[in-house]
Amino acid sequence: MEFDIVIAGGGPAGLSFASALAGSGLRVAVVERQTENDLAAPGFDGREIALTHRSVAALRELGAWDHIPEEHVSAMREAQVLNGGSSYTMSFDPGRRTGEPLGYLVANHLIRRAVYLTATASPDVTLLSGASVSGVQTAEQGCEVRLADGRVLGARLVVAADTRFSELRRRQGIPAKMQDFGRVMMVCRVSHELEHDHVATEWFDYGQTIAMLPINGRASSFVLTLPAREMDTIMAMDEDAFSAEATRRYRCRLGEMRLISTRHAYPLVTVYAERFVGTRFALMGDAAVGMHPVTAHGFNFGLRGAASLARRVRVAAGKGGDIGAGPLLSSYEREHRLATFPTYAATNATARLYADERMPARLARDAVLRLGNLLPPFKRMISARLMEAGGRRVVVG
Ligand SMILES: Cc1cc2nc3c(=O)[nH]c(=O)nc-3n(C[C@H](O)[C@H](O)[C@H](O)COP(=O)(O)OP(=O)(O)OC[C@H]3O[C@@H](n4cnc5c(N)ncnc54)[C@H](O)[C@@H]3O)c2cc1C
Repeated sequence: MEFDIVIAGGGPAGLSFASALAGSGLRVAVVERQTENDLAAPGFDGREIALTHRSVAALRELGAWDHIPEEHVSAMREAQVLNGGSSYTMSFDPGRRTGEPLGYLVANHLIRRAVYLTATASPDVTLLSGASVSGVQTAEQGCEVRLADGRVLGARLVVAADTRFSELRRRQGIPAKMQDFGRVMMVCRVSHELEHDHVATEWFDYGQTIAMLPINGRASSFVLTLPAREMDTIMAMDEDAFSAEATRRYRCRLGEMRLISTRHAYPLVTVYAERFVGTRFALMGDAAVGMHPVTAHGFNFGLRGAASLARRVRVAAGKGGDIGAGPLLSSYEREHRLATFPTYAATNATARLYADERMPARLARDAVLRLGNLLPPFKRMISARLMEAGGRRVVVG
């Protein structure tokens, strides 16, 4: 089976990349462990993805945005950050005058379904679902991708989008810096008595971190971060006990809360690959940059990387050039590193500081919030990063 490009992993990043190559005339294979049914109708996985303006525009370009029902897109008008027991708030509401939201929340399973639909609509894309990549050999002359069922695929470029714990990255001998925060993030939906007014809240409390992400109606995504042992107890609670616990932990700020979805727990491990490319080989999505979810950038970066590599590959293909050439891949690596590393490092530093409960750190946590509020250029910079508006104004609807 001969292809131009083989993508290992049909998650949101891999399928976005495949969609971005539609119409290029290149033969693209996506190998994904999950069955076609699971890809076509993915189940709720708890994640509500905060999309920047750039990402909404990118999904529009791919045609994926049309597959996301409008009523499932929730605007995030403002973000507030709180620390410990203090009611002092740092708020980001750059659109106060223009009415433009900070970003939009869409459930991850709806994004996965949307990019599945755009990728599979293209005759250039072959989806090999229920199949697993077990080995890759890359050389200047070409690549060989082995599947666990014995099939062998030929390609001119192999792209690994196979999770932050990427097996292909390891097999290619690419080291990655990993940071285990020793905590687990639990995500689910809750309904509540009071209105959220489309304000997202990140509360770095002592002993727990809670984010409340506004969903259309009187509902939110409840995001609780705790040490793993404590989380086991929370996950084992029945619905009523959990709802009462969530209300208590959030100090009744939104009135009584009720669990209205399944609960999902994710270990907090961040990953940054030391190299993003090798001979005829590139990392994409979480396999290249596995972000801490606190600044909500993982998929936004995955989408950006997919667009960046697809653009280069399309140009090369259009000129009859080599789509896996070293300079092309190096240029993708440079751009993606520049786009992601400052935010990756700043996010990890923030997550470390706000997980530290010793007295000097408690004082620093408070000082950062107050100083941030007093420095408009700092707030503008953070807002710009959160929104990634980049001159593009996106109107949803
Ligand atoms: C709680 C939480 C909240 C988040 N919130 C946000 C947010 O607000 N904004 C944001 O931008 N990002 C957010 N993210 C990050 C976002 O979910 C990820 O960045 C994104 O899902 C990564 O997509 P991916 O395709 O790279 O990897 P994955 O989603 O991990 O998909 C990888 C795919 O590869 C397949 N695979 C693996 N190995 C093989 C193999 N050998 N052969 C075949 N297939 C293979 C897997 O089955 C899987 O389908 C959040 C993450 C979490 C955990």
